[in-house]
Amino acid sequence: MISVDEALKIIVNKGEVIDRVDLVGLDSAYERILAEDIYSDIDIPPFNKSSMDGYAVISDDLVNIPVDLKVIEEIPAGYFPKKTVKKGTAAKVMTGAPIPEGADAVVMVENTEVLEKGMVRILSTVKKGNNISKKGEDVIKGDKVLTRGAVLRYQEISMLAATGNPRVKVLSQPRVSILATGTELVEPDKVPVPGQIRNSNSYSLFTQCQSSGIIPEYLGIAVDDEHDLRKKIKKGLDSDIFLISGGVSMGDYDFVPLTLKESGVKIKFEKVAIKPGKPFLFGTKGKTLIFGLPGNPVSTLIIFEVFVRPVLKKMSGHSSDSQLKGKARIGKDFNRKRAERQEYIPVSISRSGVEVRATPVEFHGSADMMALTKANGFLVIPAGVNKLTMGGMCDVLWFSSDDPSYMPA
Ligand code: AMP
Ligand code: MG
Repeated sequence: MISVDEALKIIVNKGEVIDRVDLVGLDSAYERILAEDIYSDIDIPPFNKSSMDGYAVISDDLVNIPVDLKVIEEIPAGYFPKKTVKKGTAAKVMTGAPIPEGADAVVMVENTEVLEKGMVRILSTVKKGNNISKKGEDVIKGDKVLTRGAVLRYQEISMLAATGNPRVKVLSQPRVSILATGTELVEPDKVPVPGQIRNSNSYSLFTQCQSSGIIPEYLGIAVDDEHDLRKKIKKGLDSDIFLISGGVSMGDYDFVPLTLKESGVKIKFEKVAIKPGKPFLFGTKGKTLIFGLPGNPVSTLIIFEVFVRPVLKKMSGHSSDSQLKGKARIGKDFNRKRAERQEYIPVSISRSGVEVRATPVEFHGSADMMALTKANGFLVIPAGVNKLTMGGMCDVLWFSSDDPSYMPA
């Protein structure tokens, strides 16, 4: 049995960043990794632009205020000015409109008064350049604006749009496939007859992949029969990451390890000192990573978070240190007799000010998904530790960074 840290190291070392590239539109580029340098085809701003609604003026005309100026033109956004502002005149401009020739500043409309006969009274002075965004002040045509390897967040997507890059090359994501195993399993739309269990793992795994931006391929359920397993495992081995749940422990019908070996998979380990989830298998075939996850739903879910998500992130080109770890004050005493495994206990984490508190929820063990619906994270008891005292600090793992209690250590 190896430790959680050793197992994670082996897995992350085996994961390679995917060396394929996709060409995607901006609606599909979010959180992807840029696979090319990006240049601008224009200056930004593309022309001297008013940043206010007001009057484009010659600043030297405004030395003695108030001063009355003749309005020669009105320039809304999207219109190009035809006239030149000369001494004693002004042009009305809207936010985003081009500044006319001759003007060197904009007076905001709040500091003006409309007079009769096309005149405007200016009530404040302005300095040269005030309220004008200069052509090219943000980006010059031909500039490199984004570098290969960048994560495309909202702001990078906005830059791609502004610089004329409606399609971009991004790293392909790992192809993930999911297989559930167990003769007892039925899909959620079926009512289980005695002895049957609804398949829930495929759906938690599917959505855990989705939350890392990956849509996996679902291979369905394999019954506990070597022939069926072999067929479905062959299909799963075509992907970059193959997630199999169930059938990896020591039962008479746990055919997954054997079938994987027969299919050419090199098993790296079959047991990890983690609770829940000890019978957890990891192997490789070529560049494909194979995870044999324990069948119990809580085990499968936690093993994904602890071991699969980091390598999924790495292979997508992101940082693999993706777990939402932090510290919290424990809300209850905790004792255990055996301490050889690192244990994950579902907790409700709450925050008041800078104080983060983790309170264990009622939990009946590794099949108790109900407990997880009441939890927003796990408390982590390291191997070797028997006792946690109420009020002491402990390590916690959040499910989601959107959680209002989330506070990294
Ligand atoms: P196994 O690892 O195959 O021995 O399964 C351990 C436990 O998890 C058994 O009670 C299974 O019925 C249950 N189980 C296995 N696969 C699933 C699944 N896909 N969804 C829900 N429970 C499962
Ligand atoms: Mg089984």
